[in-house]
Amino acid sequence: MSTVLVSGANGYIALHIVKQLIEKGHTVIGTVRREATGEDLSKKFPKNFSFEVVPSLLSETAFNEVFQKHPEIEYFLHTASPVSFHAEDNIKEIVDPAIQGTTLALVAAHKYGKNLKHFVYTSSGATLSRPGATDDVNEELWNDISLEEAKSNSILAYFASKTLAEKKVWSFAKEEKPQFTVNTVLPSYVFGPQAFDKDAKDLNISVQFVTKLVGLKETDEIPAMAGPFSDVRDVARFHVEALKPETYGKRLIVTDPVQFTNERIVALIKKNFPKLNLPKADLNLPVPPQNYKAEATRKLVNFEYVTLEQLVVDTVRQFLKE
Ligand code: NAP
Repeated sequence: MSTVLVSGANGYIALHIVKQLIEKGHTVIGTVRREATGEDLSKKFPKNFSFEVVPSLLSETAFNEVFQKHPEIEYFLHTASPVSFHAEDNIKEIVDPAIQGTTLALVAAHKYGKNLKHFVYTSSGATLSRPGATDDVNEELWNDISLEEAKSNSILAYFASKTLAEKKVWSFAKEEKPQFTVNTVLPSYVFGPQAFDKDAKDLNISVQFVTKLVGLKETDEIPAMAGPFSDVRDVARFHVEALKPETYGKRLIVTDPVQFTNERIVALIKKNFPKLNLPKADLNLPVPPQNYKAEATRKLVNFEYVTLEQLVVDTVRQFLKE
């Protein structure tokens, strides 16, 4: 089994990745921004886990030191990136850490990753099209958001940050020809429970999509919302699958074959938690057609996804326990 470096190991998605990697018998080194976060992770993962503190993704030397100290690293899953839609300075707070952070991680991996075989970048479905676009997308497509647009709109800044950082991964692989291969994982909206129940209070922005609906009153209108989604446990599983050679050099889109709607989520909460007084919701209303066409990915990575109902039940159960 191998040693895997996971950046941003305390993140919502990364915790599930670390959990699954350890379950598979790998040894994980996680990077975190603070010592206390690392100590907390060491309690969560008492075996086959250690951490390194990388206080900023913009520190020129941070990942150098991690690789120098751990020549045994064979795989690097770079998940750390700002997941934020509010910033005083979109470029400084959202775009730069994503692009420069990824560049510095690649450079360090190239220079010091003596035994590094493969680099996985956690990208996003946000790279495929502009916010709100409903046209069909596939593994070949990219949004065209400029840095200029990103300056004044933090949602566009997030979309641009993921796109430009992922493009950096591909251009670095092409131009520098490092000793390792690369691929990228592109989740759509990620929902589902936290990896550990006790983190359920500390909600990630995407868990809140579901838990906000639990707070609706009978007389409230359900906010209209639909889109491609996947369960966080499936997103983590994709990262583990991305270590397999048949996926190298590919963009892997993670999405359930069917879109979610808030109406369906509310209907599923009502069905499974009948004591909650939520607005009326119809489980059988049609959902918008799936515009994420991920056929190329499905040929490489194919397993049965967690259903929307299971996702809702596990998320709400964990949330209500707190
Ligand atoms: P998350 O819980 O917010 O985790 C993000 C991780 O990145 C945390 O460890 C965070 O550290 C670290 N980080 C953020 N900004 C940083 C900075 N400036 N310097 C150093 N570390 C920084 O987010 P997530 O939802 O798990 O997302 C993980 C990855 O998946 C991201 O690359 C994101 O773009 C991608 N993604 C997420 C979704 C989704 O719906 N959640 C969908 C598609 C793609 P702290 O905890 O210390 O802040």
